This record gives sequence, structure tokens and C-alpha cells, in this order.
Amino acid sequence: MRLVEAVRGAGHEGASAPPHRVSELEHEGLEHEELVVRHGARSGVPMAVAIHSTVLGPALGGLRLWHYDTVGSAIDDVLRLAQGMTLKAAAAGLDLGGGKGVICSPGDPHSLSAMSRRDLMLDFGDLVESLEGRYITAEDVGTGTSDMVTIAQRTSHVTGLPDGAGDPSPFTAIGVESAMRACVEARFGSTELRGLGVVVIGLGHVGARLAKRLRAAGVRLEICDVDVTKRELAESLGARWIESEEAIGRKCDVLAPCALGGLIDEVSIDRLRAGIVCGAANNQLADDGLAEELEGRGILYAPDFLVNAGGLISVYRELHGYDEDRALELVLGIEDKMRAALAAASARAITPLDAARELALERLGAAVPD
Ligand code: NAD
Repeated sequence: MRLVEAVRGAGHEGASAPPHRVSELEHEGLEHEELVVRHGARSGVPMAVAIHSTVLGPALGGLRLWHYDTVGSAIDDVLRLAQGMTLKAAAAGLDLGGGKGVICSPGDPHSLSAMSRRDLMLDFGDLVESLEGRYITAEDVGTGTSDMVTIAQRTSHVTGLPDGAGDPSPFTAIGVESAMRACVEARFGSTELRGLGVVVIGLGHVGARLAKRLRAAGVRLEICDVDVTKRELAESLGARWIESEEAIGRKCDVLAPCALGGLIDEVSIDRLRAGIVCGAANNQLADDGLAEELEGRGILYAPDFLVNAGGLISVYRELHGYDEDRALELVLGIEDKMRAALAAASARAITPLDAARELALERLGAAVPD
């Protein structure tokens, strides 16, 4: 498989090796335009950018800093995340393509010294610059605004800077709440969240902001995070702290996955007792086919790429020049987009995931010249 060859090649060559480019890569039936795998010249650490599509515009997607077991699993992650970004931008109505970046952290990303973190970000900045604007980076899991500032020393193709749109998470959280209201309406007949039971998995940048918003809306909250230091924050929000292992099996109105992807797989699906799954995490389903399985079990699964587009809408204003009020208006519009996807799904007896995907593909199809 060409993908594996690319990764092996990267592993055998030194820190100063040129990047590997695999055009039109086919990975599990998903065509990507480009994959670049490189060892950072300063850090020696493997990092990659996947560009899934530039049909609607430059491929914008966050940089994930994570401790992967193998470089191969990092490549799998970046390819799938990049494809999700194409759908996300298209469904959100933005003139952007889909891409993503990953750095294989040489240990716990939170324990990196400032110096090694700086080297990683400068190396990633060089990688982004080599793509000549086809990929634009932003923050994601494991990275933050200060990392974007470091990357900006090597490339101008970076968003989410302090003097620009800044941290996308508040907008992502607003979008998740908006999507949740449309889902709740479809399930319970009203957009009112008060009195509903919501389990938030992951109290990070988005999860914490979402939890605050939900609390203010009168939701009964249960929260877990693998990082037990988050317990204090959870309890200060009036939430009940639960163990991560039990979260997926909690009986609740809404389960909001706000940690990493792959939460719902063929095994964990049997434990689900939520009426709705609607959260910020990318790629919540280990396999897209599980959307139908969820539907069959009477669980409303809100397509993640539609739910979590708020941050992307916010950082896009740095490229497009609209202001914060307009960004907020567009993010709140996620509620209507979700409502439309749910209505289309119900009218055509397809899953909300298929309906949202069709919405995105229509825009992509219209942009491709005959
Ligand atoms: P983050 O790193 O700030 O927070 C993730 C939190 O999840 C951390 O507190 C971590 O300890 C916790 N966690 C990890 N594994 C867990 C597990 N198995 N069980 C419980 N908790 C666990 O990340 P974030 O920026 O809040 O993003 C969360 C998710 O939303 C990611 O999947 C990200 O790709 C997606 N997302 C984020 C944004 C954004 O604006 N930040 C936008 C779109 C999508």
C-alpha cells in the first residue's frame, strides 16, 4: 500500500530528508490530494500534513500534537481528519478545502520542555511553508494560540493568532450547543435544554466552555475527563464527576463527546444509553457505517463535522475579513443547518450523517468544473 511505503520511507531517512509527497492517495476509498511526511530538521520528530481537497479553496485544518503509538497510526489519523475537514468546510458554506496536520509527540505533549515544543512548532512551520499556501494550519488537540505564534515565525499560512480570530474553542462550543438544540427539538419537540441530562466527555478547551454554557441553560451535567485534575472545574460547574470508563454507558438525554475520536465502535456501541450523541470531537464513529446502527437503535447521531464547525467558521474570518459578530451569526446558523439535515434525513429515510454528507458533496460537486 502506497501509504505504508510513504511512512516507512520517512522512518528510514534522516532528519533533513525531503518530504514525501503522495498525490491522489487512496486510503480506504478516500482520495486525498496530497500527503507530506517529514522528520523535523530541528526536532527529528515525525510530522505530517494531509491535504484532502482544495476544490473549494485552500485546505484549512488544525495541528494535532499527540503521542501516537506508531507513525502509521498518526498517518491514519491525519488522513481521516483531513477528509472530515473537507466535509466540514463544505457543509458550513466556507470557501475552504480540507486538510490537517499532526506531530508525533515524543512523550506526553503536556510534559514537553518549552525548547522542544518550540523546535516542533518551527519544524511544522517549515513544513507548512513548503506547501505554498495549499494548507493553512490552526490549533487543535494538544496545541494552542502560543504554538500558532511560534509557527508564524516560519510561515504566514497560519490562523488563530492572538491579533486575529484567536482561540476557536468558544465558537466551537457555541456551535455544539446550537446543533444540540436542533437535535433536542427533533427528539423532544422543543429546543429547550433546561432539565435535560447531558454527559460531557472531555473537559478541555471546547468541553469546558460547552459545559459552562449548558449549565447556564439549566442542564443536569455529568462530566468525565481522563485528567483527574479537571474534577475541581467540573464540580465548580455544579456537575457530577463520573469516571471516564462509565461515561459512555450513562443513561442520559445527550452524550457530548468532546475528547478524541473513535469513541463509538462496534463494541462500545452496545453500552450506549443516550438518546442523542452530539459533541465536538472529530470522527466520533470508528466507522461511518455505525451511523446506521445508531439509527436502528433509536439514537440520534449528530454528524460531528456539522456540529463542530464553529471554530473553523471563526478562524476563517482571518482569511475572509468578516468580523466577530458575523462569525457568531454564522456559528449560530449551525442550528438551522442541523435542523435541515435532520429534516432531509427523516424525509428520505437516511441517516443524518448521510444527509449532512450530501449537503457537503453538493457544494463540492457544484465547484468542480464539468
Ligand atoms: P483539548 O485537548 O483541549 O481537550 C480534550 C480533553 O479530553 C482533555 O481535557 C483530555 O484530558 C480529555 N480526554 C482525552 N481522552 C479522554 C477520554 N478517553 N475520556 C475522557 N476525557 C478524555 O481539545 P479540544 O480543543 O477541547 O477538542 C476536543 C475535541 O473537539 C477534539 O476531538 C477536537 O478535534 C475537536 N474539535 C475541537 C475544536 C476546537 O475549536 N478546539 C474544533 C473542532 C473540533
